[in-house]
Amino acid sequence: MYNISQIREDFPILSRTVYGKPLVYLDNAATTQKPLCVLDAMRGEYLSVNANVHRGVHWMSQQATDLHEAARETVRRFVNAKSAAEVVFTRGTTESLNLVASSFAEGFMREGDEVIVSAAEHHSNIVPWQLQAQRRGIVLKVIPVDDGGMLQTGRLESLITPRTKIVSVGHVSNVMGTINPVREIISIAHAHGIPVMVDGAQSVPHFRVDVQELDCDFLAFSGHKVYGPTGIGVLYGKEEWLDRLPPYQGGGEMIERVSFEKTTFERPPLKFEAGTPDYVGTHGLAAALDYVSALGMDNIEAHEQALTRYALEQLCSVPGIRFFGCSPGTEARHDAVISFLVGNIHPMDLGTLLDQLGIAVRTGHHCAQPLMDRFGIPGTVRASFALYNTKEEVDMLVEGIRRVVAMF
Ligand code: PLP
Repeated sequence: MYNISQIREDFPILSRTVYGKPLVYLDNAATTQKPLCVLDAMRGEYLSVNANVHRGVHWMSQQATDLHEAARETVRRFVNAKSAAEVVFTRGTTESLNLVASSFAEGFMREGDEVIVSAAEHHSNIVPWQLQAQRRGIVLKVIPVDDGGMLQTGRLESLITPRTKIVSVGHVSNVMGTINPVREIISIAHAHGIPVMVDGAQSVPHFRVDVQELDCDFLAFSGHKVYGPTGIGVLYGKEEWLDRLPPYQGGGEMIERVSFEKTTFERPPLKFEAGTPDYVGTHGLAAALDYVSALGMDNIEAHEQALTRYALEQLCSVPGIRFFGCSPGTEARHDAVISFLVGNIHPMDLGTLLDQLGIAVRTGHHCAQPLMDRFGIPGTVRASFALYNTKEEVDMLVEGIRRVVAMF
């Protein structure tokens, strides 16, 4: 049973007020709130076994190392990787994407080689490749999106050339919530022997993502968007790729033997984890993944889908509302994010006035300026849902928007 009031008790912050109004937190695509079990796990580690991992012979260091490596196994299970060696801990999706862009370009790309991204990417899946374009002369190509916000996957085949070395696409758009057909993209790319990196920042928190089923070569996600702590994230990479990629950063932990003449590196995942890892963060992330697993990702998905459907139906009644990438009837290709504009009201004004009512939404370009350019708009208002949001909160959002519209 999905008991929403019981679930909300796990997130004490949800019962706070803002400007004397009950908080309605609908900015979950930016970051999610944390259940008590995550906070308890992290506090427990600091209180009882805090010690640096991997290098201590003493008891506490071994305990901390066990927790850290157990967290890796939890992530492995969560995304169904073949081996824990395929799970690299990073600071988040952004660092995972930078790691692959940097190491892949260094290892496998020469001037004139191409990477394919999409027009709906978050900046963190554009700018790292652009940096490589500036440094190494690689070329970015872009899968366009149609007016409904869907990737024009049919165009992928014609973008691929013998110089295409990698495809890097988002699984779910953080602006529109559109679910991209990554399985199809991966099949097309693999038919040409091209690996695919998937930005899972907005998919992993909302539905079951199985890396073996997808057959992606890399997957990135952030702990803080899946009810875990900030500053910890994951790069999944197929072992054969992680073995071949050059290291990203140098330092302790990632080496096997160092001398001034020659340094040899650890095997993955440690090869990509220079320096002291955020071992308390990994333990907190594991607690978060255990929490959502206990609720059931399928149950979470069903709850959020129903809520999104309800929100779309209710929002339709707002005069002058215009959706981006979603509308009633497109829910099957759509996740827990709704982007919209209302009449001529500037998104910032709408967001600010909703805030006064205790309703937290995001406004602006959502780190996807090329997509804003595609639609010819400066930004949108975005409401994004999580496992703890309720129909009553959707009603408050709709009522709040109506009030703002009436003021204008
Ligand atoms: N990719 C997508 C689709 C996102 O929505 C975000 C964050 O909003 C990121 C990447 C970057 O995630 P982070 O800031 O946690 O590294």
